[in-house]
Amino acid sequence: VRGLEGAQVAVLGLGRSGLAAARALAAGGAQPLCWDDNAEARARAEAEGLVCADLKAPGAFEAIARLIVSPGIPHLYPAPNPVVQAALEAGVPVDNDIGLFFQSFATPDWDGYDVMPRVVAVTGSNGKSTTSALIHHILEHAQRPCQLAGNIGRGVLDLDPAVDGEVVVLELSSYQTELARALTPDVAVFTNLSPDHLDRHHGMGGYFAAKRRLFAEGGPDRAVIGVDEVEGLYLAGQLSEGRADDRVIRVSVDRKLTGPGWQVFARKGFLSEYRKGKQAGAIDLRGVAGLPGAHNHQNACAAYAACRSLGLAPRVIEAAFHTFGGLPHRSQTIAEVGGVRYVNDSKATNVDSAAKALAAFGNIRWICGGLEKEGGLEGLAGATGGVRKAYVIGREAAAFAMQLNVEAEVCGTMEVAVARAVAEAEPGDVVLLAPAAASFDQYDSFERRGEDFAARVAAEVGVAHG
Ligand code: ADP
Repeated sequence: VRGLEGAQVAVLGLGRSGLAAARALAAGGAQPLCWDDNAEARARAEAEGLVCADLKAPGAFEAIARLIVSPGIPHLYPAPNPVVQAALEAGVPVDNDIGLFFQSFATPDWDGYDVMPRVVAVTGSNGKSTTSALIHHILEHAQRPCQLAGNIGRGVLDLDPAVDGEVVVLELSSYQTELARALTPDVAVFTNLSPDHLDRHHGMGGYFAAKRRLFAEGGPDRAVIGVDEVEGLYLAGQLSEGRADDRVIRVSVDRKLTGPGWQVFARKGFLSEYRKGKQAGAIDLRGVAGLPGAHNHQNACAAYAACRSLGLAPRVIEAAFHTFGGLPHRSQTIAEVGGVRYVNDSKATNVDSAAKALAAFGNIRWICGGLEKEGGLEGLAGATGGVRKAYVIGREAAAFAMQLNVEAEVCGTMEVAVARAVAEAEPGDVVLLAPAAASFDQYDSFERRGEDFAARVAAEVGVAHG
């Protein structure tokens, strides 16, 4: 980290990204002062030589130049974090690791010879991880030096020093874009927008505003924007200077795009690119095993557009699509036994992503439920056409089941749900875990939930999982 030499910088939250921030600040000549409410986390930091200081003490911010906050800490909503509030009251700027990362770009080293990577940043409500991983995969396939970081992969301040021609692909959550003081990617991608994390952003407007910061003044040279919601259309309109503007690539799987601008869309399984009114590329996505369903075609379009921005040829991108294995817990086929396919989409933690997963399959035995998110389940009603029956898990399984418009059995646990679905499944059915809810009522994380599903399926149908 550069630009904070000699300054005292407070670091709040000592998880992976907080520790990386403290180390990078120290390496850059700043004096990090660390805090975490958890004493064990503080002890770990001290054990590696970092200095902890009670940021809750009166006057703690008197000599501090900046506060770095971890993404896991709700800083303003639903209630202001007391340390953040103390910093704000003392007039101390609040920032995060992403802001430090971009700031270092704006502050050249004394010799000016540092290699700066190009940065592709991906945000949006759903599909961020898949799109980021896919862009990274395409770059690797094209043998371009690249690293994947942010919400997925490594912390930005844990990256290896860039080599010549390198591209860093960053997945950024709304929490990360909201806090970062500097955000200057070369290519910024906005996948889509649906309600999520509204408690921490004070409603949909705040959530959209947080994501939009990636596209603010002085932001990306090129913006790839999913325009299937009106917010994306609005953003694309605001960023393009004229109809034929090349800085914005509009991406859609839903909307008929017109006009001479740069566009990438998928319809009926075919991806097409238009630029200045001419078709530039077309790819058949129907046989791409790692990207099933219209939602993944949206991710494919966004990744394609980002890679075209970086100068890759359509044929190279197409070849890479075919070797993309997908990500665990996202539309991942874990077994096929007796004509029944078992799909783990544990990452479908909100209504929109679950609806997309449901739309990608038919004859579904649907395992759903968990900790319900704000906004209710109404958004699911139109998506359950392919569902034969729901098997509901979670502490509030009965209340969840009552809100569904399909036949639903209250199972409570994954063990019961899988056993019941396996017992009733017929050849041609898909047993799909797409919870439409968070996992925290029964699991530590969506990963654990997906692993539990895979283990129960393996136990029931006798296939190794992993
Ligand atoms: P994120 O990183 O934004 O959470 P992921 O790629 O991890 O996105 O996917 C999250 C969930 O959303 C998964 O359940 C996945 O099947 C679903 N999903 C993936 N891409 C999209 C999309 N473009 N639109 C809607 N849902 C999607």
